Amino acid sequence: MVFDFEIEFTNGGGIQGQDFRMDIAGETISDKELADYLVADLRLLMVGKVNILNKFYIEEKHKRNSTQQISPDKFIDLSHVIFDGLITYKGLPAPIICDYLSREKSRANYEEGTTFQIGKIEMVTNTGTYIDCPFHRFENGKDLSEVELEAFANLDGVTIYAPHTLEIDISYFKNTEIRNKAVLIRTDWSEHWNTDQYFENHPFLTLEAAEYLRDCGVKLVGIDSHNIDDTRGNSRPVHTTLLGSEILIVEHLCNLDKLPVGNYQFSAVPPKFKGAGTFPVRAFATLL
Ligand SMILES: [Zn+2]
Repeated sequence: MVFDFEIEFTNGGGIQGQDFRMDIAGETISDKELADYLVADLRLLMVGKVNILNKFYIEEKHKRNSTQQISPDKFIDLSHVIFDGLITYKGLPAPIICDYLSREKSRANYEEGTTFQIGKIEMVTNTGTYIDCPFHRFENGKDLSEVELEAFANLDGVTIYAPHTLEIDISYFKNTEIRNKAVLIRTDWSEHWNTDQYFENHPFLTLEAAEYLRDCGVKLVGIDSHNIDDTRGNSRPVHTTLLGSEILIVEHLCNLDKLPVGNYQFSAVPPKFKGAGTFPVRAFATLL
């Protein structure tokens, strides 16, 4: 790969290069990727705008090995897609996702060729992959706006594998380092997402397991099931136990099979609404 470049720095000044040669792994490369390699290879800091010019490809034996080329995927998305009409929880209404201002109608407000869409969403807070804060269960518990950011983001994560189990008891958590961690329980029930089977006979935690997690001082508990509690009766002891100790709960996770056992951070950050205890989150893991 041969090209010219111009780099501006955010703290002033810039550099240019002509007929710069760089080894690339594939047949082609985007300007953005090329710029990223260039900045990394030259160890430049405070880089602003990068222009790649006069790009052309030449055939030469590779010098760069492929492990340097492709950075491993750092993020694992653990959230379901939320779409208009999706039922997350049996008995609760599906979200209505529509235009408040359509692209067509916005045309009148802006110059030729410029349009915007302003969406409008009507939904219950328990939609998609969501987080429960204490206010969901307790009138005087912290709501979404009151829980501190560090309770939602960059928590040390640990994955507990509990496949084909209805009642998840204490035994699954023994012999594992869980204190101060986000404990994510992989049941693989998310395979049934958006089917009738998802709502019935889903895996849940026992009261004793919830008490054990509380006593061990975990920070958050996540599960890829319909509910962390048994929904066949009217009691919700796991919600009561965990939220009563300000341990947040994330339900309807997915992709937990893509997680390592540990060595990752978990984040699930909701917007800062007052007077609401639950909200959809973009839950994800960051591999360390
Ligand atoms: Zn819940």
